[in-house]
Amino acid sequence: MHIAFIGLGNMGAPMAHNLLRAGRTVSVFDLSAAAMESLHSAGARAASSALAAVREADVIVTMLPADRHVRELYLGEQGILAHAAGNALFIDCSTIAADAAREVAAAAAERGLAMIDAPVSGGTAGAAAGTLTFIVGGETAALERARPVLEQMGKNIFHAGGPGAGQVAKICNNMLLGILMAGTAEALNLGVAHGLDPKVLSEIMAKSSGRNWALELYNPWPGVMDNVPASRGYAGGFGSSLMLKDLGLAQQAAQSAQAATPLGSLARQLYQLHTQQGHGQQDFSSILRLFQQKS
Ligand code: NAD
Repeated sequence: MHIAFIGLGNMGAPMAHNLLRAGRTVSVFDLSAAAMESLHSAGARAASSALAAVREADVIVTMLPADRHVRELYLGEQGILAHAAGNALFIDCSTIAADAAREVAAAAAERGLAMIDAPVSGGTAGAAAGTLTFIVGGETAALERARPVLEQMGKNIFHAGGPGAGQVAKICNNMLLGILMAGTAEALNLGVAHGLDPKVLSEIMAKSSGRNWALELYNPWPGVMDNVPASRGYAGGFGSSLMLKDLGLAQQAAQSAQAATPLGSLARQLYQLHTQQGHGQQDFSSILRLFQQKS
């Protein structure tokens, strides 16, 4: 089996490395020459273009920033769908709008090509360790063809439903995460403003009904927990600008289905303010800073 991997950024590069480590034949392409060089020196074939990478591949994995990049790469006469072998399988791991994922999947289906959307959870650490969670939308048969490849990059594989369902499930989760993080930061800040120790307050809430993932495993208050971004100046982790992107996708999805998401909308506004204040590159738990009183 020959795999083409397109988009070798923070996530794509370690994922492609894991396929090489598993002994796969991989052709890679990225607009960045430096990204290509790193994979080439690890044993990947450096393709001269995305189309060149795709022409010879049985399975094509893409890991791109946003809707625009995915549409541009896949669609149209110069898109990769038009240049793939008849039995090719496409796996798009990018986090994009569910409507965009459905549009690309429909274009693939029109050409008789198999495709799944398979956005991931687990971040750059999960990508490097090969422990990503894949949240898949698409036909069962296409997922079963993709499974051996996904298993070499991740640990958990969920089938959320038909085309686009992986993207919907992913942004439902991330919308809830953004709400939980903002709520946890707000509650901790209120307690500390009344003189409580954030560690003691965290322990109390973690054993009470306010308990949640952000509080218990990713505490936003510096020093409450070791080995989380809050305790290293909010470096690394999941950037606030990426959280803002996902909260925006959640609002798009809400509009297209006319679903009410008032808390998701508020969380998006909070992350918008926070990134405007220059914190876009800091981990998303730094939303605490928006609440902290300035002395
Ligand atoms: P990134 O910006 O680091 O990498 C994207 C790569 O795609 C870049 O190397 C860029 O050069 C390349 N690219 C763009 N257009 C291209 C084209 N037409 N042809 C070839 N290469 C092209 O982004 P990332 O952090 O790797 O994230 C990728 C996706 O994964 C995003 O949708 C993101 O939301 C999602 N995601 C990221 C994380 C994370 O923690 N970074 C976690 C989960 C999901």
